[in-house]
Amino acid sequence: MLIDHLLTMLTTKALQLRASVACLVLFLSTLACYPGGPGKGYRKNYARVIPLRRGERVPDISEGTIAASGPSQGAIDVDSPRYYELVENFNSEIIFVNGHRNVNVRRMSKRCQDRLMMLSIYVRNTWPGVHLRIFRSYQVKPFCKPGSLHCEGRAVDFTTDDSDTRKYGYLARLAVQAGFDWVHYDTNHIHASVRAAEDSDNKVKGGCFPGNGKVQLQNGTTVDLSALSVGDNILTVNRLTGKLLHSKVISFMDKQPTRKFEFVKIKTDKVTLTLTRSHMLFVANHSFNDSILHEGVNWDSAKPIHASEAEIGQHIFILSPKNSTKSFEIVMSPISDIQYKTLRGAFAPLTTQGTLLVDGAVASCYGVVNSEPLAHAAFFPARTFKFLTINTNKNGILWYADILLLTMRYILPKSLFSLM
Ligand SMILES: [Zn+2]
Repeated sequence: MLIDHLLTMLTTKALQLRASVACLVLFLSTLACYPGGPGKGYRKNYARVIPLRRGERVPDISEGTIAASGPSQGAIDVDSPRYYELVENFNSEIIFVNGHRNVNVRRMSKRCQDRLMMLSIYVRNTWPGVHLRIFRSYQVKPFCKPGSLHCEGRAVDFTTDDSDTRKYGYLARLAVQAGFDWVHYDTNHIHASVRAAEDSDNKVKGGCFPGNGKVQLQNGTTVDLSALSVGDNILTVNRLTGKLLHSKVISFMDKQPTRKFEFVKIKTDKVTLTLTRSHMLFVANHSFNDSILHEGVNWDSAKPIHASEAEIGQHIFILSPKNSTKSFEIVMSPISDIQYKTLRGAFAPLTTQGTLLVDGAVASCYGVVNSEPLAHAAFFPARTFKFLTINTNKNGILWYADILLLTMRYILPKSLFSLM
């Protein structure tokens, strides 16, 4: 009897604990574009201690993508002011081999130098007596390939000084752990690069959409996001079918009219979608020819990604007038250009669908977390219990998001967050 009672208690407690954790995870992942994002330690934990395979890159996206090292900002001339922003690396733990295409193999960006210092410590601790050997860093213009980050001192090529190729896969992993923003295990060496200083120093602190982003109300008029109110019905898409429908704004996860944020501008021939880098939009990776595009949208191929992961050539979903009618439909449009820009003000409306159309392009209401469907599922409480969205026309962050983020840093695995 007593044992039965104890077993019941234990089972109940275990179930309660599991239910509590599940609810918490669900709640925490509801955070939309929340200022702060994951902390600085993220990259360190991102790497697993397994070697990279030859040809592998981390993260597995193009080097010039904003979520990796970011686009080239132009080659640095030896007589330009930017050249003097580069530092000379005199780390005695590192072997520098001056190649004929280097002016000075020790010259690199400060961020690159910092990562190399960390990597040299990892190398020493992993293989005592072995050193890091750098044979390419900053390269002068005549030897630069267009777009190469070596021309900006943001990339280095290296091996270990014992030339033991069995170590190279591990060396690449150590470079990831050391905080390089993009690492590639090339044929016979490791290439690693970092973001530009101004980019990495101005990490996005949250936001979502700029205040002058336009949304369409049910009566057909458009309104700036800065003038949108809780209770307004705006044009969204059904997240299951991709069909257009109107959906109520149930709260603002964040309203920051005066603060500055870094935005990603994702351009197609027809629209420009502007959103913060950790906010999510939907893309289709396949290439579609014009005939398929005109036959309608393939919503099944829609994949949520963070704005910083968008690449030229991917298709986004946009609003388009239907032929010879006054109605609209969703079509796909390829990304032709990506830029980033600092703007003042950011707004994060939450609709019952969890989607919205901003400036004629489909976006998610969520950001920061890596699972868009989970984020939407987690908003069930907010949609059900009004007390969770009280006073959400006020400026600032929704109160429960604020409290939950503090808890989140201690509980959730960092892999649930964007590569910020
Ligand atoms: Zn290289």
